[in-house]
Amino acid sequence: MSKPAHHRDGHFQNNRGDFEPKSLAEVIRWKWHAARQGLPKRPLAPIPTQPADLAFIHANHGATQQPAVTWIGHATVLAQLGGLSLLTDPIFSERASPFSFAGPKREQPPGVALAELPHIDAVVVSHNHYDHLDLPSCRTLAHQPGGSPLFVVPLGLKAWFQARGIARVVELDWWQSERLGELEIFLVPAQHWSARGLNDRMKTLWGGFAVFAPDCQLFFAGDTGYSRDFSDIRERFAERQRAGGFDIALIPIGAYEPRWFMQSQHVNVEEALKIHADLGAQRSLGVHWGTFELTDESLDEPPRQLERQRADLGMAEDAFFTLAVGGTRRIPRRR
Ligand code: ZN
Ligand code: ZN
Repeated sequence: MSKPAHHRDGHFQNNRGDFEPKSLAEVIRWKWHAARQGLPKRPLAPIPTQPADLAFIHANHGATQQPAVTWIGHATVLAQLGGLSLLTDPIFSERASPFSFAGPKREQPPGVALAELPHIDAVVVSHNHYDHLDLPSCRTLAHQPGGSPLFVVPLGLKAWFQARGIARVVELDWWQSERLGELEIFLVPAQHWSARGLNDRMKTLWGGFAVFAPDCQLFFAGDTGYSRDFSDIRERFAERQRAGGFDIALIPIGAYEPRWFMQSQHVNVEEALKIHADLGAQRSLGVHWGTFELTDESLDEPPRQLERQRADLGMAEDAFFTLAVGGTRRIPRRR
């Protein structure tokens, strides 16, 4: 059998156009222009936060569960579906960085602290960038009372976890899936890349996740640029989705400026809305903003853009919404 097109010699590539890593000169050009223009500007107002509804979150499991998503910050979402609790790209640390003393710092605490979480059954990790794969958070979760969640990760990362004492890990290629109770968890393609250090670029896979449960179907994009991958995902799952597209899609809306640098790896709000449409999602939650200052747009700009563009498209607020950090949205049960 021939290898899938995204498997190359010793590394992985995207489906829809190879990712060209930016050069050091380009990084310097970006940072020089940003410094000259004083970017990113400080937010106009504080990022909305609210105390999490811990009583609801803790009681929300098993047969009486109401599907729900709670935004913890950045791409970290507590998703409750299929009677279980799942976390996406958990980061609770002070910095998204290999160092505890340098690198992008959290602008506000997680909406739910690690110690306040309910029992977590599964963790999905989209790729190995520091703002998505945070070792201290994963280690703490692996040692939660009652035993480690199942970590579902892209190809090449299982050995990384196991070398760090996290044993309950399954790694998937694009379109492969793993069952856990009522959940069927698929890794799906995204337009992105990977690197943890200086010599491991594209050596482990990246992706998004499609999670199917009888009461809810959830999509998590991870980090991604815009591509035809999302139409492919809709086509691939059309049979399972005859009752309607994903009940909830978690789509990044932040970390997109400047476009010449970011477009190949991070969508802007316009492209996030296109992903929502390509997927045929019934509703989407905008994530990957408001927590870490990674790029040139100000931390609170993505939801303003979303509000404007949603209005231009005549979309309802609850078709593509944002939450306060700590906020929960209950999702109607799928029939
Ligand atoms: Zn990334
Ligand atoms: Zn990211």
